[in-house]
Amino acid sequence: MPHHSEQALRESESRYRKLFQNMTSGFAYCKMIFNEESQPVDFIYVEVNSAFERSTGLKDVVGKKVSELIPGLNESNPELLEIYGRVALTGKPETFETEVSALGLHFSVSAYSLKDGYFGAVFDDITARKRAEAAVEQYKQRLEKLVDERTEALRNSNRFLDSVIENIPNMIFVKDAKDLRFARFNKAGEELLGFSRSELIGKNDYDFFPKTEADFFTSKDRAVLAGGQILDIPEEQIRTRLKGERILHTKKIPILGKSNEPEYLLGISEDITDKLQLEENRRQLVQAQLAQEEAQKGIVVRDEFLSIASHELKTPLTSLYMQLQLVARFFKDPQKVDREKAGFLLGKSLKACEQLNLMLNELLDMTRIRAGKLVLNRRETDFRVALTETVLQISEEIAKSGSSVEVIAEEPVMGQWDPNRILQVVSNLLSNALKYGEGKPIVVSLKRDSAANSVRLQVKDHGIGIAPDVQKIIFERFERGVSVDKISGLGLGLYIVRMIVEAHSGRVWVESDAEVGGALFTVELPLSGNH
Ligand code: ADP
Repeated sequence: MPHHSEQALRESESRYRKLFQNMTSGFAYCKMIFNEESQPVDFIYVEVNSAFERSTGLKDVVGKKVSELIPGLNESNPELLEIYGRVALTGKPETFETEVSALGLHFSVSAYSLKDGYFGAVFDDITARKRAEAAVEQYKQRLEKLVDERTEALRNSNRFLDSVIENIPNMIFVKDAKDLRFARFNKAGEELLGFSRSELIGKNDYDFFPKTEADFFTSKDRAVLAGGQILDIPEEQIRTRLKGERILHTKKIPILGKSNEPEYLLGISEDITDKLQLEENRRQLVQAQLAQEEAQKGIVVRDEFLSIASHELKTPLTSLYMQLQLVARFFKDPQKVDREKAGFLLGKSLKACEQLNLMLNELLDMTRIRAGKLVLNRRETDFRVALTETVLQISEEIAKSGSSVEVIAEEPVMGQWDPNRILQVVSNLLSNALKYGEGKPIVVSLKRDSAANSVRLQVKDHGIGIAPDVQKIIFERFERGVSVDKISGLGLGLYIVRMIVEAHSGRVWVESDAEVGGALFTVELPLSGNH
């Protein structure tokens, strides 16, 4: 039997050897060295396998102390002595991982002990795994740091945006796209509407505003969300709790979600009530100022006119008065009646009356026109007939002026005009030409412009002419270019001409060349009244 068991022992021993030498894990069998206080201080290699030599790179280790083989190990890895010492003393196996910096390697170690003071250690080189793990760990840490930084940056930028939104003087609100409930509100919004954030959030327009207003806001919101476009509402009314009706300038902006569907509606509103009021006040002020200036100017012009008019009216009246006084004196004493002289005086009186009548008519005309009562009596009218008639009517005046009047009107010109008013236009222009013409020749021409369907009347004289700055004002009421002391007049003739011409949808203007001298007045009238 012993023989048998010896045989078995040897076989088992050889199997064990084979395994020992061929296993991929490193193996070392060592003897622990203790000091007097039974502290483990070193160990000696008793046996190692080839995997041990391969993985540690150590050679001929058997019989040598670890402190000789790997100097500094006991100092850099004191836990090794501690653990191996404990295993060798207690016989309790332990498994652990350790990094041997002296070798630059990382091991997973299982230590056990079959004999007091000795221990065996099976170890695997896990350096590669550890490195990979470390790399993963490092990467993870970097990633975490990055995420932290990003989160912090995001938080900062959110904080920044929040404070901007919160402190901006305009109302800012956000509504959810689904049922337009308020999701966000800023301070300016609270102050404007008179409701606090907590009252507003989660509610919609119908909870705070009259139905018509809420309908308006909501319809705009829906339109913005459906169209996906920013909407600018220059003025919208809103009923606030503490500030009454206010007017807002609002922009509504759709905010899209990930799938490009509208997710929120952003609103920015500026309270422009005060601005509008200010503008309105300013406008009214400017208007009042203008009106006042206008009135002031009117007063000056009217005063001037009154003094001119009274002067102008007084001249013929004085002459009339004097003639009549003389006639009266004649008739007091029937013996002295000189029929010829009386006839002469009465003729002069008649002339003065005519002059007065003319001026009063002008005045009356002006007041009627001012009252908006220039009613045209349009009918088929021949302008040429009106022209020749006028020349006939004032033939005496022409003769007295010393100017020759040449009329160039080759054909009748028919149009829808008020014949009496046409007469007045020609008469006023021609009278002026005589008055300001210095006795030089006057040419009146009438031409039909078939292409333009209009007629053109021109009155050209060679008299005193009109300075450019005066040309601009002579068609205005009461405006005169010469002083009454030189040439009398009320300053109404051209104003009346312009009013009549404009009532006929026509134009009148003057040209006066300083070099040639004289003035050229042109009137242009459409032939029909439908212009
Ligand atoms: P009035 O002749 O009574 O002053 P008008 O309105 O007819 O009033 O004319 C306004 C002014 O235009 C005149 O005071 C005069 O200075 C100027 N004016 C009008 N016609 C002529 C003309 N043919 N030549 C020079 N100046 C003229």
